[in-house]
Amino acid sequence: MYKAPKGTRDLLKPNISVWQHFEQTARDVAQNLYNYSEIRTPVFEETEVFARGVGDDTDVVQKEMYTFKDKGNRSITLKPEGTAGVVRAYIENSLFNEAAPAKLYYFITGYRYERPQMGRYREFRQFGCEMFGSESSTADAEMITMLSQLIKKLNLKDVALEINSIGCGECRPVYLKKLKDYYAALPKCGTCETRIEKNPMRLLDCKVAACKSHTEAAPKPLDHLCEDCSAHFASVKSLLDLCRVEYKINPLIVRGLDYYNRTVFEVISNDLGAQTALGGGGRYDKLVEVMGGKPTPALGFALGVDRIVMLLQKQGETVAEHKIDLYIAGMSEQALLKSIEICNSLRAQNISCEVDLIGRSLKSQMKYASKIGVKNVLIIGDDELNSGIAKLKNMNTSTEVEVKLNASDIALLVV
Ligand code: AMP
Repeated sequence: MYKAPKGTRDLLKPNISVWQHFEQTARDVAQNLYNYSEIRTPVFEETEVFARGVGDDTDVVQKEMYTFKDKGNRSITLKPEGTAGVVRAYIENSLFNEAAPAKLYYFITGYRYERPQMGRYREFRQFGCEMFGSESSTADAEMITMLSQLIKKLNLKDVALEINSIGCGECRPVYLKKLKDYYAALPKCGTCETRIEKNPMRLLDCKVAACKSHTEAAPKPLDHLCEDCSAHFASVKSLLDLCRVEYKINPLIVRGLDYYNRTVFEVISNDLGAQTALGGGGRYDKLVEVMGGKPTPALGFALGVDRIVMLLQKQGETVAEHKIDLYIAGMSEQALLKSIEICNSLRAQNISCEVDLIGRSLKSQMKYASKIGVKNVLIIGDDELNSGIAKLKNMNTSTEVEVKLNASDIALLVV
């Protein structure tokens, strides 16, 4: 028997309704309440898009990408995240000519060659939002507020929203020098040994216990912000307070990807084993330029939908399953034809309806109807065809009523 490849899985009922609930809620919040419009970018991009957009030195690019040569000898990569593709699309489609800020949201399937474990897959799904064209703190605050509103609407419990500022091109070099000096003499894990040269801020979020013990005394970006970054962050915080968003400052958030500046944030769950990141994001003012566009301030976030769905299930969040309004059981060939005709007219009136597609006996049709949990059953045999009247059974109350065998009379009784 074939199996889904390692780190991938099939999403199907009954859990699929939780996925759909998340998607519907995220769409409602981003599109209907905050005026984001959906963007769908290709599943694969030229490898360079991610090498540049995510950053050559990141784990994602170094170790985790599904990269291959296509038949035209081009280097292609399955997207490991959403932002780089959206930035490429923003530039390619000249979205900077449209009303600013451009607000875009996406649902993507991402691919990373990781060691599969709980909440970590090789194929996973993200919901993300990106905004282009505003450097104002109001943009940061609005995006974080939206995220907080989405978490509330989903009724996710024990979830923390943590924010930080990691400064900009002005203040960061001075800070990084201090950070490197601090760590120079300290023992470090192998990864931190390389990171100190390539991506030193990530020393702050190393998960190895020995390295973790050094983070408390380490210099933090938040204490080294220039005046502008400081004022920007102060304003983000006071706007979040104004909107009554609950958040915590976490001076250790640096984010795994290279391109962030100023505000960064994470959504953390305490209910999925060790603290688990449900998502995160921040400002990336230099990325559009790095990707070949005009300098454009931007920010965004991505949520891991696999983990959110897992949490919703763990917290017992249930989504009412859609029930079919009517099952019509036909007891003869003629009766089946009548069932199909009525079923067809009812569906045209937006009434959900099913008939036998397998040639089952009445008994097995009734079993099937109760298995799928229909609300009503109508049984048609030769007698019913002759009299033009049949019995409609309400499966909830077990009551029966007589009804004329035509779609409009049946429609009145089944919804
Ligand atoms: P990142 O782009 O790494 O910041 O990821 C954002 C969110 O996507 C994370 O917080 C996770 O919730 C989710 N995510 C990232 N990688 C995976 C993965 N391999 N499997 C499942 N979820 C993931």
